[in-house]
Amino acid sequence: MEDSLLETVINTNIYDVIVLGAGAAGLMCAAEAGNRGRRVLILDHAEKAGKKILISGGGRCNFTNLYASANDFLSQNPHFCKSALARFTQYDTLEMFEKQGITWHEREHGQLFCDGSAKQVVDMLLEKCAESHVTIQLCTKIDKIVKHTGFDIYSDQGVFACESLVVATGGLSIPKMGATGFGYQIARQFDLNIIETEAGLVPFRLTSQAHDSLKALAGISLPVEASCAGQSFREAMLFTHRGISGPAMLQISSYWQAGEVVGINLLPDLDVRTWLVEQKVARGKQHLRTVLADILPKRLVLHWCELYIPDKPLQSLSDADLDMIVLQLQGWQLKPAATEGYRTAEVTLGGVDTACLSSKTMQARDVEGLYFIGEVVDVTGHLGGFNFQWAWASGYCAGQFV
Ligand SMILES: Cc1cc2nc3c(=O)[nH]c(=O)nc-3n(C[C@H](O)[C@H](O)[C@H](O)COP(=O)(O)OP(=O)(O)OC[C@H]3O[C@@H](n4cnc5c(N)ncnc54)[C@H](O)[C@@H]3O)c2cc1C
Repeated sequence: MEDSLLETVINTNIYDVIVLGAGAAGLMCAAEAGNRGRRVLILDHAEKAGKKILISGGGRCNFTNLYASANDFLSQNPHFCKSALARFTQYDTLEMFEKQGITWHEREHGQLFCDGSAKQVVDMLLEKCAESHVTIQLCTKIDKIVKHTGFDIYSDQGVFACESLVVATGGLSIPKMGATGFGYQIARQFDLNIIETEAGLVPFRLTSQAHDSLKALAGISLPVEASCAGQSFREAMLFTHRGISGPAMLQISSYWQAGEVVGINLLPDLDVRTWLVEQKVARGKQHLRTVLADILPKRLVLHWCELYIPDKPLQSLSDADLDMIVLQLQGWQLKPAATEGYRTAEVTLGGVDTACLSSKTMQARDVEGLYFIGEVVDVTGHLGGFNFQWAWASGYCAGQFV
């Protein structure tokens, strides 16, 4: 044997399973595989495990959603996620959390958050890994992966070998937190197709003209219905000093393509025309701005009256005026300049093409022993705990087979 090869063999640490990425999906998969008696190592370049979990849900981690179903996910193949979601459901997630004594509460739309802090979630996963004798090695820069019957992972901490390699390196969102495109690079190395990636669940930036006109509204939040590309979401919208954000905008951003218009209904629960006609009868002398301030934030009303709608006494509003008011309040059309991109996106749309993976095991169809789980896969949830549910479910499923 050549000296250098001999040295590599001697210094190689051999495992059954190596998981790349100590995030939600990777920790879950490792704990499950370890629980089956597999010898598991997790490698991560970060100095801490589960960093995204720690900052999720405003520090309380929206860890699942009571109503999670395949309809809450975007993917080229909307059926792919069904199998994993059925084998590890939101109720399984709840059981896992309850076993650990993590108490939780429900917010709107079935979103479940920890009562305490997101750190409890990371602690739970680390405990599960410890119970399953999983080794976690952080601060490890991976240089290359070589496939023979198994895989050799070359890193700045030495060479590691395994039978099964699980890629759980997440997406591109928030590079400052350590996100990289490494998972896609590995997929490409093994000739797996990548569905083009894009920032999802991300605030919009406005054109400079719209920004100048709307910046005075920064801080206003109100419930709206946002629509684009045949999808709509009823949630809160927030005007910020940079553009527009809030859950409604984050949700619709996952469907928006550059150049498209977002339709915004500022009063989604009201038949505004009928209401205005009633107000015209009841308080005809009052100005539109006074009347609208009963149902919309005052600052927004003043702005709309300055820019888009006539601030006259109600009794002098013509039918055409009413039509225009309804249009500007319920069919406001806004053309964002762009999204804020990966810098602030909560998720990455696209990723490893599900056509290349088994929906049962998450193994690459043509590369034995290579698995992809979590956000690196082309399965992206809506806002509301769905992305973690996908991480738990895909991690759990791969964990049964690796
Ligand atoms: C601010 C924010 C808030 C969020 N809040 C929620 C929420 O409340 N509910 C919800 O469902 N989803 C939320 N999400 C989305 C959720 O965090 C992700 O979908 C989820 O963490 C994906 O899990 P993952 O394990 O696939 O990837 P990640 O959690 O991103 O983990 C990937 C791991 O791989 C490591 N890694 C990356 N590149 C390399 C490399 N080259 N070498 C070695 N290691 C590498 C990273 O360090 C990281 O530890 C939020 C996201 C953000 C950014």
